[in-house]
Amino acid sequence: MTIPLLHTSPTSVASPAALPTELPTALPTVFPLVARVLGCLLPIPCPGCARPPDPRRPASGLCSTCRRVLSGQVARRGLLPGQESVPLWWALAYRDAPARLILSFKNHDRVDLCRALADPLARAIRAAQPRESALPPPILVPVPGRAAGFRRRGYHPVVSLLRAAGQRPRHLLSWAREPGDQLGLSIAERAHNLRHAMRARPVPARLGSPSLTHDANLASVWVVDDVCTTGATLREAIRALSAQGVVAAGALVLARAPRRGASNPSRN
Ligand SMILES: [Zn+2]
Repeated sequence: MTIPLLHTSPTSVASPAALPTELPTALPTVFPLVARVLGCLLPIPCPGCARPPDPRRPASGLCSTCRRVLSGQVARRGLLPGQESVPLWWALAYRDAPARLILSFKNHDRVDLCRALADPLARAIRAAQPRESALPPPILVPVPGRAAGFRRRGYHPVVSLLRAAGQRPRHLLSWAREPGDQLGLSIAERAHNLRHAMRARPVPARLGSPSLTHDANLASVWVVDDVCTTGATLREAIRALSAQGVVAAGALVLARAPRRGASNPSRN
């Protein structure tokens, strides 16, 4: 099945404060009910593979195979090739069924998939944390959403995923300017396109300012996005935080696109 391209042409810049960031509260409740009722009458194919949904879990909307795919192992590598000091953690490979499920959630009104997709993100968050139980919870900073995307969807996917994973996102980042369309750009061009496109708010004192660092006594700060392709968006987010004295421990994403060719269907 061909993976459709993500929307990559924002028309305006939005600050986190200007955007409602949660799913409309009724949707996660209503959607599974609707799916269950409709599933009894006319089974809706699994959006990951078009097979019939798992009859044991009809509310999930997924077939048993795609449910297993979402339970795969978390992986890690340096955000930049050969540079392990800033790690990138991800739960899924952004291709095949996982890519179709994420695109269905983001672009095709399948908000009922949010909970199923939040589970692998939660695993990546747990895997990235040091084992010491005395450490404070991590500070999870989502990549800022864009106004055009919010108008189209009615929610911010990354924030919704974090909340469904039981996390509290910290909205420290916003867009300083509107970057151009990333589609068709090389890795170097994408990085240039996003250069200084974000800004970070001054860190509230209650989060441990003046600086959040790798100090073992402080919470670690992680930038979070749904999909990583080249890492340009994540690196720009880390740079913007650094400009406010916040040293991010690394980045967490739900899915990472394999680095092969320039046709990866993602925005960053
Ligand atoms: Zn499936």
